[in-house]
Amino acid sequence: MTRRKLAAGNWKMNGTTADLSEIDALASAQPDPTAEVLICPPATLLAAMSAATQGTAIATGGQDCHAQGSGAHTGDISAAMLKDAGASYVILGHSERRADHGETDADVRAKATAAIGAGLGAIVCVGETLAQREAETTLDVIGTQLAGSIPDGVTGDTVVIAYEPVWAIGTGLTPTLAQIGEVHDFIRAELTKRFGDTGGAIRLLYGGSVKPANAAEIFATSNVDGALVGGASLKAAEFSAIIDAANAA
Ligand code: PEP
Repeated sequence: MTRRKLAAGNWKMNGTTADLSEIDALASAQPDPTAEVLICPPATLLAAMSAATQGTAIATGGQDCHAQGSGAHTGDISAAMLKDAGASYVILGHSERRADHGETDADVRAKATAAIGAGLGAIVCVGETLAQREAETTLDVIGTQLAGSIPDGVTGDTVVIAYEPVWAIGTGLTPTLAQIGEVHDFIRAELTKRFGDTGGAIRLLYGGSVKPANAAEIFATSNVDGALVGGASLKAAEFSAIIDAANAA
């Protein structure tokens, strides 16, 4: 099954309007990428970035959404609001949200259901901590997160899974390619067990200290269909080099 590579940038809590110049530079550097390109800025920049990327190959997304469509939830944002601001995707269950906001697998599943219902692609993050890897429970942890976080009835068009070892995020550390391949093959098998042929259409991103120097070898690893990139997505030149590797993969 052919799955188009996805290079997704997660700006986290970084960026103001001055940084939209990076998006103009990225659009100029990647006028016609083979890979799908996505930037998920902070919510304050989403509408402006969506406007700035009109007519380019760059899509935009949110970094979280509420499970409800509207209501008395101060500070929260619904999936329909993200869509209205121009988003095509939303990242859900990032380990920083699981840690900082106590998000559970059930929360992530409810948010993914809401996102898909609003017409967004849900990028659902899973990943083990260093203690879990050292205890050799990585595959158990990932299996539990997948079972709990992914709604029934998803397809390759509605969901993307991001495998992000917590200990590799923002640290400069990465698993070996064999370790990445082992987890991605496991996720693929779990999805196929649960969703049949559809499980083969769902894209699996690797995330955690992806840089221009390691992107090509990561994209060549079994069942890696792209990357979720934090720090290296903030600067157009660095992210464009990662997109080049995705285009060539
Ligand atoms: C992330 O936050 O999803 C991430 C992978 O960050 P970094 O690339 O900075 O490790």
